[in-house]
Amino acid sequence: GLPLVAIIGRPNVGKSTLFNRLIGQRRAIVGDEPGITRDRIYGEAEWAGRRFAVVDTGGIVPDDDAVIPANIFKQADVAINEADALVWVVDVRAGVTPLDEELARLLRATGKPVFVAANKADAQRVDAEALEFTRFGFEQVFPVSAEQGLGTGELLDALIARL
Ligand code: GDP
Ligand code: MG
Repeated sequence: GLPLVAIIGRPNVGKSTLFNRLIGQRRAIVGDEPGITRDRIYGEAEWAGRRFAVVDTGGIVPDDDAVIPANIFKQADVAINEADALVWVVDVRAGVTPLDEELARLLRATGKPVFVAANKADAQRVDAEALEFTRFGFEQVFPVSAEQGLGTGELLDALIARL
């Protein structure tokens, strides 16, 4: 089958928005309420002639602060296990949160390539905020705006090079 990319992250960071952007259609449900994506949703994407599958490991999570990270990870576990590469979505506006720290540990433990999508970088001045996420030592941190389609090309270039 196609190589699989899993989109991981805490609630409300823009996973589904990025997923929709990557597959080029509005398949995932995007909402202001954290955890609005109820299930894993699969789609197909193509970049530079390379086709791959994408899974939006979603919500199911009722409330961001109340949730233990292991729960999020457990929900995403199946997808993560079958994925060839992981896109970890974080929110540059919120910065690094304790849940991000915990997720970073869990993602690192997979040993898979992790690409950090520092989302909600809607303007160039917030690109610097993305640097905060380099501390986790993953492949590369890409400032993106899933909503506006900024920076996703660079992310995809790097991604397909590892698939
Ligand atoms: P998920 O819970 O991680 O799947 O997040 P969603 O994709 O549902 O998005 C959560 C909220 O963040 C929604 O209100 C989106 O419109 C918003 N959002 C997503 N991407 C961006 C972005 O690049 N910039 C801004 N400003 N908001 C975004
Ligand atoms: Mg979602």
